[in-house]
Amino acid sequence: MRPTLEQDLTAAIRTIPDYPKPGILFRDITTLLGNPRAFRRTIDELVHPYAGLKIEKVAGIEARGFILGGAMAHQLSAGFVPIRKKGKLPHETVRIAYSLEYGVDEMEMHRDAIVPGDKVILSDDLIATGGTAEAACRLLQRMGADIVAACFVIDLPDLGGRKKIEALGVEVRTLVEFSGH
Ligand code: AMP
Repeated sequence: MRPTLEQDLTAAIRTIPDYPKPGILFRDITTLLGNPRAFRRTIDELVHPYAGLKIEKVAGIEARGFILGGAMAHQLSAGFVPIRKKGKLPHETVRIAYSLEYGVDEMEMHRDAIVPGDKVILSDDLIATGGTAEAACRLLQRMGADIVAACFVIDLPDLGGRKKIEALGVEVRTLVEFSGH
């Protein structure tokens, strides 16, 4: 019998205990990206509901969101917008600060990357607390983006990130779940 999508993709994701520090189960998608069938199925499934919606841009969060978002943009015939750690983009940028477990960080995008009213999909590999994706959504919304959805391969539902994004009025699409953190 053909495995379900969730079984198929879960089997393609590698879990590394205690990385990058003790107690964390790191969900490594490089094994999924390296598997031609799983990679294609992931991209097909992530974009499926949005195929007819004339999405203008896919915005990807550095760095794994670039790989997924680039493939999604191609599939949707959309442009791609990188959201990067501060100091990496060469032209005029807009920036937002966000909280990490310890301290704060900042992310930015080019000021001219989004035209107000653009229909945008946000992409990253995983949503945990939702802090990273929330900051990215706020930055995109500040520039006038109409965020149609935020798409992730993996949801860690115990950490509550989905609700944080939905509270911004943004639909969340995820393909597999892992309990815990
Ligand atoms: P958060 O802001 O808490 O939703 O964290 C999401 C970001 O951290 C994403 O860019 C993920 O790639 C990364 N991340 C958080 N937790 C994990 C984990 N258990 N395994 C792999 N990546 C993670």
